[in-house]
Amino acid sequence: MDHDSLARRHAALREAARAGLVGPDAPVAGFVDVTGVREAARELRAAFAGPAPVLHTFAVKAASLVPVLELLNEEGVGCEVASPGELELARAAGVPASRIVLDSPAKTVAELRDALAHGIAVNADNPQELARVDALLAEGPTDSPLGVRVNPQVGTGSIGAMSTATATSKFGVALRDPGAEDWLVRQYVERPWLTRLHTHTGSQGVALELMAESVRIVYGLAERINREVGGQQVDTIDIGGGLPVNFEGEEITPRFAAYAKLLRETVPGLFDGRYTIVTEFGRSLLAKQGFVAALVEYTKTSGGRRIAVTHAGAQVATRTVFVPDSWPLRVAAFAPDGTLKESPDLVQDVAGPCCFAGDLVARARTLPELSPGDLIALWDTGAYYFSTHFAYNSLPRPAVHGFWTDDEGRTRFATIRRGQSLAELLAESGAAESGALKGAGEPPLVRR
Ligand SMILES: *Cc1c(COP(=O)(O)O)cnc(C)c1O
Repeated sequence: MDHDSLARRHAALREAARAGLVGPDAPVAGFVDVTGVREAARELRAAFAGPAPVLHTFAVKAASLVPVLELLNEEGVGCEVASPGELELARAAGVPASRIVLDSPAKTVAELRDALAHGIAVNADNPQELARVDALLAEGPTDSPLGVRVNPQVGTGSIGAMSTATATSKFGVALRDPGAEDWLVRQYVERPWLTRLHTHTGSQGVALELMAESVRIVYGLAERINREVGGQQVDTIDIGGGLPVNFEGEEITPRFAAYAKLLRETVPGLFDGRYTIVTEFGRSLLAKQGFVAALVEYTKTSGGRRIAVTHAGAQVATRTVFVPDSWPLRVAAFAPDGTLKESPDLVQDVAGPCCFAGDLVARARTLPELSPGDLIALWDTGAYYFSTHFAYNSLPRPAVHGFWTDDEGRTRFATIRRGQSLAELLAESGAAESGALKGAGEPPLVRR
């Protein structure tokens, strides 16, 4: 299956080059393997199937593209949203409120009111947010399932910025702080409408055992609350996302099945049917189903180092460029016609188009010798890359295309997002406000 994925991507790159979806007229583009997305969603559903009811949601921030959300919705995966924009994307994709979860550390009153009016599940992040929910419920009833996000403070993974369950994390109610657990249990006892508990111990770089330990702690908290209220008040446990992705090779590891198995062993009670499980995977569903392709514009030598200047840099590979050691990417080299390059290897830097020195997607990488007109692919970039554009240098958001193979074995494409036009770029850069500062704040004339 992993091998099929590589073959599909090679075929897509060849066809994309032939069709001009990437090349001199489209120097950078994103691609999504539709078959791969469907397979990943099915694998996820199979891994968690029964006996407990499960609601799978996709963390929209990982691939904020409406057609991708529609595709996942078709495969039975709803949306986890964390901003009004992400909520609007989920709605535009036709995802029903019953399959949307709103988590965000900074929900405004207006956002909370909107969610409660539409029956969207909300996980409160902190005591102040819980007080806001109290006030909104005093205005009128809601169909929204409501819960609290808990930070079990289990510790850190290998990437600090990605570890959400550290002792001092900004997310959720810190369960191990003095008095916190008793306080939280009291909040549930006083509010029969608090029926969910949420935790997300992610993301990339966090060990599966640590994630499972978080879920075990939250499950134990649910059991305690239900004991104290004398019934099944907490009926849903949201285990978040955070499954890491193998950026080093083709192999999909860990698999959803491995994580589900570990959870079934660590927290058997979670699966016995008394609780509904909610999941919020992002990267693990999409990363390996997408890639960035870009044109090599120039090659040069600097201080003895060969450099390929391409059109894929910080604007589409932001984390890789700014934190290269934590987010290395595999780079593949192709001829202008999209065929894999077999030329001898050469140590090269692969640079992007942005005007700062660190704009490199790979440093001192051994690759077939790149020449102007060649193409590169950045594998495993289906999540948090082309969909999470960084508007440096007023570079436009690139087009994103979905691909699949038709009955005759031909690669087909559909545009998921058009490339941003210069007119659109101007519009989001204040062009309509042109003249707004003319004469404003001029130095006052010296008074005589
Ligand atoms: C980002 C996020 C996710 C998804 O994380 P991945 O590492 O992409 O799986 C899920 N839940 C919440 C609350 C998040 O913030």
